[in-house]
Amino acid sequence: MAVLKEAVGTTEKPLRVAVVGSGPAGFYAAAHLQAATSLTVQVDMFDRLITPWGLVRAGVAPDHPKIKSVSRMFEKFAKRPGFSFHGNVELGRDIEHAELLQHYHAVLYAVGAANDRRLRIAGEDLSGCHAATQFVSWYNGHPDFADERFDLSGTRAVVIGNGNVAIDVARILALSPAELEVTDIADHALEALRASNISEVVVLGRRGPAQAAFTTAELRELGSLADTDVIVDSAEAELDDLGQAWLADHGGDRARANVELLQEYSRRTPRGGHKRIVLRFQTVPVALIGEDRVEGMDIARTVLQAAGDGNIVSRTTAAQERLECGFVLRSIGYLGKPIPGVPFDADRATIHNDHGRVSDPATGQAIPGVYTAGWIKRGPSGVIGTNKKCAQETVDLLLHDVADGVLNTPLREPQQLLETLKERGVHVTDYAAWEAVDAHERGAGEPLGRPRVKLVRHPELIERARNTRD
Ligand SMILES: Cc1cc2nc3c(=O)[nH]c(=O)nc-3n(C[C@H](O)[C@H](O)[C@H](O)COP(=O)(O)OP(=O)(O)OC[C@H]3O[C@@H](n4cnc5c(N)ncnc54)[C@H](O)[C@@H]3O)c2cc1C
Repeated sequence: MAVLKEAVGTTEKPLRVAVVGSGPAGFYAAAHLQAATSLTVQVDMFDRLITPWGLVRAGVAPDHPKIKSVSRMFEKFAKRPGFSFHGNVELGRDIEHAELLQHYHAVLYAVGAANDRRLRIAGEDLSGCHAATQFVSWYNGHPDFADERFDLSGTRAVVIGNGNVAIDVARILALSPAELEVTDIADHALEALRASNISEVVVLGRRGPAQAAFTTAELRELGSLADTDVIVDSAEAELDDLGQAWLADHGGDRARANVELLQEYSRRTPRGGHKRIVLRFQTVPVALIGEDRVEGMDIARTVLQAAGDGNIVSRTTAAQERLECGFVLRSIGYLGKPIPGVPFDADRATIHNDHGRVSDPATGQAIPGVYTAGWIKRGPSGVIGTNKKCAQETVDLLLHDVADGVLNTPLREPQQLLETLKERGVHVTDYAAWEAVDAHERGAGEPLGRPRVKLVRHPELIERARNTRD
C-alpha cells in the first residue's frame, strides 16, 4: 500500500477522510477531526441509509425523545464547512474498501454492530421467536424491517436477556396505545401494538439481580409506568452469601442500586388490572416448544458460581418449568459484521484494531490510513456518550499518523468516486436530502402532537429526497 510522502492538511491539500457510518461514533469522529484547527480537513461521511444518526434513530426507544435529541448536536457538526454526507451508499455493496482508499488519505469505519447473537437452543427457529434487533428496528421504522410481521395475539411474551435493550422491548410491549401515539414510533408498529393482546412480559436473566446489566435509570422507569405492574419474586431478589460477597467486592454503585430497587419491587403489591412486567433471575431458556409456532418455553433454574477472575457465572440445573408464551424476543447481544477487505476479529466480532488503528491480524502491524470507532471497534457496549471518547481516541491516533506522514496516498479525487457511484446507478443522497425527509416527517407529526411520522420504506425515502432536491 502507498504511504503518504507529502504534507497534507493544508488549504491546497486538505486531509481527506472518509467516515463510514453516521451513528454517534461517526459523528463524534467527524467533530474531533473538525476540531483539529491547525489542519484543513475534508470529511466525507457515507451511510447505507438516507437517514443519518445510526441507532439514535433506529435503536433508542421512541418514548425516550430526550436521548434522541443528541442528534441536534450532530446536526451542528454536519453543517460545518468541510463536511459532506453521502447517504444510500453501502460499503461492500456499492463500493469496496479498496476503492475508498484510492480516494482518501484515511478511512474510518464506524458501522456499528447490527447482527444479533443466537440462543442455540431447540425450537429457536419457530415462528414467533425473533431477535430483539428485528423488533427494535421494526418499531423504529428502519427501512430494512418495514415489512416484518410480529404476531402479538398471545397474552404472554418472553424477553431473554438482562440489558437495557431487554428493558426497552419489554416496556414498548407494555405501554398503552395512548402512551405510544405521542412518540415517533413507526405507524405500522403503532397499529400492531394497538391490536396487541400481550398482557404479561416475562424478562429472563441467567444470573442474579446483582449481575443484571440494566442501568438503574431504565430499571427505575419500569417501576413508574402508569399502567404496568413490575413483579419480582422476593426469593429471586434476595442474594445468597456468594451474591452478597460479590456485590461487596465487585458490584459497584449500579449493581448495588439495582439490587435495592429490585428488592423494593419485590415488596410491592400489584395493583391488578394492569399489564405486568415480570423480572426473573437465575433462569435460562432450554428449549422452545411448539408445532408450527412458539407455544411455550422450557426454562431451567441456574446456580451461581464464582469464576477465578472475580466474575460470577451461572450453571444450569435440572430443575425445569414450562412457561406458556406465543412471542419470544432474544436480547443477548449484538455482533459486528465484517466489511469485505477489512481485517475482522471473528472472536470479538469487531474490526481487528489496536485502539482504533486497524491492524493486520497476522503481523499486528497497523494498516496505513485505516481506522475504526464505536461498536465495531470495541464491541456492542456503552451508551451514546461512550462513543465520544472512543472516537476521539481513534482520531488522535489518526492525527498523530498525519504528523508522522504515515497515512495512505490516494490516487484520485473524492469527486471521482461520486461519479463512479453514479455510473453504477447508485442514487447518492446528500445532507439536504435528509433535511427534506426530516422536514417532511416533522411536518406530518405536528398536527398529531408527535415529534415526527417516520417514512419507513426505501422508495418513499428516495422519492422525498429526490423531489425536494430537484
Ligand atoms: C436498541 C438499542 C437501544 C439503545 N438505547 C440507548 C439509549 O437509550 N441511550 C444511550 O445512550 N445508548 C443507547 N444505545 C446504545 C447506542 O445506540 C450505541 O452506543 C451507539 O449507537 C453506537 O454507535 P455506533 O456509531 O458505533 O453505531 P450505530 O449507531 O449502529 O451506527 C452505525 C451506522 O453505520 C451504518 N452502516 C452500517 N453498515 C454500513 C455499511 N456497510 N456501509 C455504510 N454504512 C453502514 C448504519 O446504517 C448506521 O447508521 C442503544 C442501543 C440499542 C441497540
